[in-house]
This record gives sequence, structure tokens and C-alpha cells, in this order.
Amino acid sequence: MVEESVRLSRVFCEKKWPIFAFLDSHHPDIPEHPYPPHCIAGTDEAKLVPALRWLENESNATLKCKDCIDGFLGSIEKDGSNVFVDWVKSNQINQILVVGICTDICVVGFCLLDIVCKKSWFPFSSRKCDRIFLWLCYL
Ligand SMILES: [Zn+2]
Repeated sequence: MVEESVRLSRVFCEKKWPIFAFLDSHHPDIPEHPYPPHCIAGTDEAKLVPALRWLENESNATLKCKDCIDGFLGSIEKDGSNVFVDWVKSNQINQILVVGICTDICVVGFCLLDIVCKKSWFPFSSRKCDRIFLWLCYL
């Protein structure tokens, strides 16, 4: 799955297509129930895997640390803005290809709950975001 994500990311970067990457990142004293401690901020587990770390320097890639399973909620800033919604609007996104490692939790949750159910949260794309490609692979 990582190799395929790298391949897709290189294609997107060559074409200068926008990439949005969620990085699960948790404060060590704030567990995410019911899951065991994972992706503790400041550790390698909270960073992109080494094969994708080059994305940190790509101008078309937006990286967002999130501290909850829900990518949409995890994109809300203290001022009430939403980094993901802003990314959708500013890039005029109308199709989304979703890939990820933890496909049965974060990826499915993001596709089904955030993009489909919260579609009305995306004023610009509510009529245009009509295709969602879900890439399901298990490690
Ligand atoms: Zn988490």
C-alpha cells in the first residue's frame, strides 16, 4: 500500500494536482479511546512514513496533523476555520481519490462520514464533489 501511495503521489506531484494528507498525531496524555496509544506527537509514528516524507517539501501537498479519528473535525482550527474545507474550496476539488494505511478506520470513516455525510459542509463543492474513489488495501 505504501508503494502504491508513493506512486500515486508522484503522479499527482508531476501533474501539480493537490494532495491533502492527514497525519494522526496525539498528545501523550490524551488517549484516543478505544485505541491503544499510537502516533504520539513528536515520534516517527506521527510523521509520514519515510517513503512519503518527501511530500513535506512539495508545494501541492497540504499536510494536516489531526488528533481524532475524524479528519473533518481534526481539520478545525481554533479560529473555527477548517483546513480541509478551505483546501477543497481553494483547489476547486470535484473528485477525490482517497488512499491510506488504516483503511478500515480512518479512511472508511473519512470517505463515508466526512465526505458523504458532511457534504453540505462544503458549500463550494456540495454539487461538484460527485466522485469519491476509495482505495481499499490492507497491510
Ligand atoms: Zn489516532
